[in-house]
Amino acid sequence: MIGLSEKYELVIGLEVHAQLLTNTKLFCSDPAFFGGAPNTHISPITLGYPGTLPRLNQQAVEFAIRMGIACHCDISEKNWFARKHYFYPDLPKGYQTSQHINNICQGGKVPITVGGKEREVQLHHIHLEEDAGKSIHDADEQKTALDYNRAGVPLIEIVSEPDMFSAEEAYAYVTEIRKLVRYLGICDGNMEEGSLRCDANVSIRLRGETKLGTKVEVKNLNSIRHVKKAIEFEAARMIQLAEKGEPIIQQTRSFDADNGTTFPLRDKEEANDYRYFPDPDLPPFLVTKEKLFAIREAMPALPDAVRQRFETGYQLPLYDARMLSEDIGLVQYFEATATHTKQYKAISNWLMGPVRNWLNEADQEITAFPLPAAAFASLIELVEAGKISFSAASSRLLPALLKEPGTAPAELAARLNLLQDAGADDIENWVQEVLRNMPDKVAEYRKGKKGLIGLFMGEVKKISKGKADPKIATQLLEQKLNEKTIVK
Ligand code: ADP
Ligand code: MG
Repeated sequence: MIGLSEKYELVIGLEVHAQLLTNTKLFCSDPAFFGGAPNTHISPITLGYPGTLPRLNQQAVEFAIRMGIACHCDISEKNWFARKHYFYPDLPKGYQTSQHINNICQGGKVPITVGGKEREVQLHHIHLEEDAGKSIHDADEQKTALDYNRAGVPLIEIVSEPDMFSAEEAYAYVTEIRKLVRYLGICDGNMEEGSLRCDANVSIRLRGETKLGTKVEVKNLNSIRHVKKAIEFEAARMIQLAEKGEPIIQQTRSFDADNGTTFPLRDKEEANDYRYFPDPDLPPFLVTKEKLFAIREAMPALPDAVRQRFETGYQLPLYDARMLSEDIGLVQYFEATATHTKQYKAISNWLMGPVRNWLNEADQEITAFPLPAAAFASLIELVEAGKISFSAASSRLLPALLKEPGTAPAELAARLNLLQDAGADDIENWVQEVLRNMPDKVAEYRKGKKGLIGLFMGEVKKISKGKADPKIATQLLEQKLNEKTIVK
């Protein structure tokens, strides 16, 4: 009997919405940033009052094109907006201004790596549209509250082809998109706050079949992990239906993060329910060759370029350069630190070791790391100068610093008595004591068992309580051991 995963193929297409980091909304000058007291970012244009006219935000267009360039899309020269009609209490105009047929970016691709294998996921297009407001159901037991601050905030929607074939590929794809929008500075990529949102379209078909199966669209995926879990759940649910000979219904479903399942929201509307037509209030807009060239020239560095800069500019190994360039936040923190210390490899080690451990445990991103880059650099310098051991610095000084990030690392290390500040006389005494206590080992060393130096060093560390600079201690140990004089 063949396994079900060999019998069926999973097919996934993702629609990712990214809220653009413009100062103002897509068609008016209301602030576009997240938050604010409810209904304070709302002009008559946002509310769709009769007689108001929208005006296109050029920065939003530029941001959409940046993403298109990064994804190797064709950028459309002639563009227009369309009205997409549907009724929602949080959509006061009764239609969403979006693009239809003629989208700003066509085609394109996004590289992903899964299980060490690299491939490209094909994009269908990227379009510009405005966001809707927010319905809040838990503010009042009887009523739904409406906050229109988000209405009209610019979004790009990145629509893939049905070109992913496992939940892992979908996970890698959204991770890559988030990395790109952050690099491009066009979206903060924060899925929890909803500035990056993903709808997953999922279907199954018998392996070998080329026709697509009936799809289900799962909404409300507000973390990359949820994208993966929702797809896994849907795949299992659909395969079970197919095995029982039951039909799969085209549906919009929602993900329940608490138990990792999905449930139906509604049977899917057909596209023609939206009665799209070109928005008569917005003239078509052109992306000229000159404009496209200017945007291309002003593009921020992309991950590959940064990786190369880390390899050649900072002389980091490929592995380090790859890891760091995965996250623009890490790149920026690294570079801020590198203006204060030239110990580039040490910065990298710290970021990939103790800092990453802290971030994982706190479930935080590097942008939430409390230590200013200058203090981080001094911490690294203390270790590199032998004033404190790496283990004391990472396991004791760092946690203390994170609690009081304003204190100078050297000052805090002194207060915690972590400095390897013993004088040469003290160190010599400890070295003597260790050698005196271990005459057999000393004899073995002198007969050629040079590896024992580690043992002696460990003892010195122990009795000095970490206050002996290991470089000086090792030198003294070697000197005494090679002197051949009887240790006093
Ligand atoms: P809709 O009109 O329902 O939004 P589209 O054809 O515009 O459907 O596609 C929306 C998304 O769904 C795209 O990302 C596309 O790749 C994906 N998709 C379409 N059909 C399927 C399918 N049968 N299985 C998986 N994904 C699909
Ligand atoms: Mg859709």
